[in-house]
Amino acid sequence: MKYISTRGGMPPKTFTEILLGGLASDGGLTIPEAYPRINREELARWRALDYRSLAFEIVSRFADDIPAADLKAIIDGTYTAQAFGSEEITPLKTLEPGLHILGLSNGPTLAFKDIALQLLGNLFEYVLEKTGHDLNILGATSGDTGSSAEYAMRGKPRIRVFMLSPLGKMSRFQTAQMYSLAEPNIFNLAVKGVFDDCQDMVKRVSGDAAFKARYRIGAVNSINWARITAQIVYYFKGYFAATRSNDEEVSFAVPSGNFGNILAGHVARMMGLPIRQLILATNENDVLDEFFRTGCYRVRSSAQTYHTSSPSMDISKASNFERFVFDLTGRDGALVKDLWHRVDSEGAFDLSKTGYFRKVQDFGFVSGHSTHANRMETIRRVYHDYGVMIDTHTADGVKVGLVHREAGIPLICMETALPVKFEDSINEALGQAPGRPGGFENLEKLPQHFEVLDVNAEAVKAFIAAHAG
Ligand SMILES: *Cc1c(COP(=O)(O)O)cnc(C)c1O
Repeated sequence: MKYISTRGGMPPKTFTEILLGGLASDGGLTIPEAYPRINREELARWRALDYRSLAFEIVSRFADDIPAADLKAIIDGTYTAQAFGSEEITPLKTLEPGLHILGLSNGPTLAFKDIALQLLGNLFEYVLEKTGHDLNILGATSGDTGSSAEYAMRGKPRIRVFMLSPLGKMSRFQTAQMYSLAEPNIFNLAVKGVFDDCQDMVKRVSGDAAFKARYRIGAVNSINWARITAQIVYYFKGYFAATRSNDEEVSFAVPSGNFGNILAGHVARMMGLPIRQLILATNENDVLDEFFRTGCYRVRSSAQTYHTSSPSMDISKASNFERFVFDLTGRDGALVKDLWHRVDSEGAFDLSKTGYFRKVQDFGFVSGHSTHANRMETIRRVYHDYGVMIDTHTADGVKVGLVHREAGIPLICMETALPVKFEDSINEALGQAPGRPGGFENLEKLPQHFEVLDVNAEAVKAFIAAHAG
């Protein structure tokens, strides 16, 4: 399989050639030249597979330049009951017939990002070992991504992680999760600013090409194609768990921010998985809901980006969305390039008066958004009706999913984090704190390791220069 750019200006590359990179060389996003199609016989055979075998079948179609035996070993070492709490890896919980929650949050940091990042860490290690190179990962986080990346990269000798986070702005649990890591290859840089400052500093440092090359600076951001690949697996797993036969259709409700999770669902559908609807849910930051309702994609300024009680979905633009628009426009790279130039110059583009917008429904997409009050009400309702505690992000998905639910079509709502990560919101909704999974009881009492930095990209460079191997 070869990878091209959504803007049409990159010579085709292999999976390992795009693995460590961020953007394509022409500023677009990397994407397979064509999606693999799964035929009926294959789908019938896959129904009986366990998570690891299914993951191998799917990932090997995208990572076809890694020898099969090596890839199998990497996958088998990643998706273990020890790391993800059960052999099912992503267990399906049935609330009532036809209504399910797919548990994606049982990895080391209790958020769905672990499913992709745990694999990414092992793929990075494999490739770096082969080439004899080191990598310094620089990132910014407002919560889940940072801890998920750090837990995936901890203890890997060829990798160091420099993670910028806004000092005092994450939940207590999230802060403790990151800062309690004591591995010498993990560096928590607490910035005296907000998340946007952290992201700007990363952009500044990465924009210095000489520095970037000299220190082999890499990223683990949500546009990384390997992350999408890993996420495709649980759409298949969830489908098989919620149905008896491959003649059935299901719909998925997906709490969305950067469009990474639901993009994997789109790819699964393009591969031939019988998905009826992909129900996209946003919170008050409704850039994506607006597009799917109106055809207009309008990015927000920092001042228009709200801090909500589902903070991992607080985005001003959706970095993976370009990949979907590439498919929506019949893979017209020149047009995608033009649309994103318009985003850069005017902050928006509008497809409402084009035939492309009408095609959105052929791709199964519908959308909606929720508010803080909706989240609180949904958490209460799911707890009272089914005895199941869900977190605020999952609640966004359930709320919007139920609006679009159709009779006779199983609805699978993606659980993207466990409630324990957002204790204050659960307390507000239910008047009680969520239970803690084993091993997390004293998390906030552990010693914390971090360096405090001013909002200054030069300070980040100096820190990396002093600590890079
Ligand atoms: C990252 C995240 C999301 C959003 O996922 P995208 O792939 O960015 O759309 C939703 N919920 C939680 C808990 C997350 O950490």
